Amino acid sequence: MFNTEVLKIKDSLIEDNAIDKIAETTAIKKAAQYILNNEVVAFPTETVYGLGANALEKQAVTKIFKAKGRPSDNPLIAHISDKNQLPVLIEGDVSGVAEELINEFWPGPLTLIFNKSMKMPQVTTAGLNTIAVRMPSHPVALALISKVNLPLAAPSANSSGFPSPTRAQHVYNDLNGKIPLIVDGGICNIGVESTVIEIEENIINILRPGGITRSMISEVIGDAYQVKIADTAEVNKPKSPGMKYKHYAPQTPLWIFKSKNILVNLLSEYNINNENTLVILSDESLNNVDENDIQANIKNMGTINNLEYIAQNLFNFLREADQKGYDLILIEEVPNKDIGEAVMNRLKKAAVKII
Ligand code: AMP
Ligand code: MG
Repeated sequence: MFNTEVLKIKDSLIEDNAIDKIAETTAIKKAAQYILNNEVVAFPTETVYGLGANALEKQAVTKIFKAKGRPSDNPLIAHISDKNQLPVLIEGDVSGVAEELINEFWPGPLTLIFNKSMKMPQVTTAGLNTIAVRMPSHPVALALISKVNLPLAAPSANSSGFPSPTRAQHVYNDLNGKIPLIVDGGICNIGVESTVIEIEENIINILRPGGITRSMISEVIGDAYQVKIADTAEVNKPKSPGMKYKHYAPQTPLWIFKSKNILVNLLSEYNINNENTLVILSDESLNNVDENDIQANIKNMGTINNLEYIAQNLFNFLREADQKGYDLILIEEVPNKDIGEAVMNRLKKAAVKII
């Protein structure tokens, strides 16, 4: 057991992207010391909070799996702050389309799969001979990684299966007592995890949709590659083991409802039009309901014209609903385009029913 400490980085340093100054804060000095001692530390990234440890040390990485309760066959992403940290992780050079994508999207929420180097312990990659790598853009993440000058293996800093953490408080709620330190860097901007891609001969296979959208990738690489989102049947194979587990789920049962359905009819058909139900609705749908017909609680997720806002707040909506103790959460689907693809991917994995 740890007496978990939460140390905040000033908002102004984050807003100014002051990586060098952040690296000199007590929070980062302490975090770096823990990492060098093979402990794990939670820190903010632009996607979600990560639970980091030295990716090259088996003993350290094992502690990540233990703190989260993560299945040992679900590999981790290695986070770097500088391209010169790549050779220790991967076999061979980076060239071609991988290089193009890195030049365009790093630092940022794009994770690429490479053949792994012999130096990587098996535990980090869950026995695969490939390794997932990304360079986050959050100044706190970059400050910590460059301070220790080591690649950090870092999955999301939640208990395995729960909604990912986008605030330090979310990490605390899940991991209090299980880790020594949470570096608080405020709210994560993107709110859903990185896009994980694998490059095949003529195909960019999106194993997990995320912060970098399919159209952003297509725009960079043009017609030379087909960009496709791997379907769940494919990712059930060992390719991306993480995708086979239940994920992102609140404790409260979550149903997704299709926006074409008439809400008030659904609520009465399923006998859930009561105050134990929370309905999370878009602005647009909210304008179309007569609130007098609805006894369930309503939460506005924002407009479907701002999918970035919905992505940023998604996990917080789910965690808040859990805290309020509803029996059921009903959430409206969002358009399956741009970052909405990542939102729908998370919701479908979290939901017990789609109606
Ligand atoms: P998380 O750490 O919770 O963000 O999850 C990391 C995701 O990346 C999971 O879905 C993993 O299955 C996936 N992943 C990590 N390493 C690899 C790899 N070598 N090959 C394919 N997918 C990977
Ligand atoms: Mg995760």
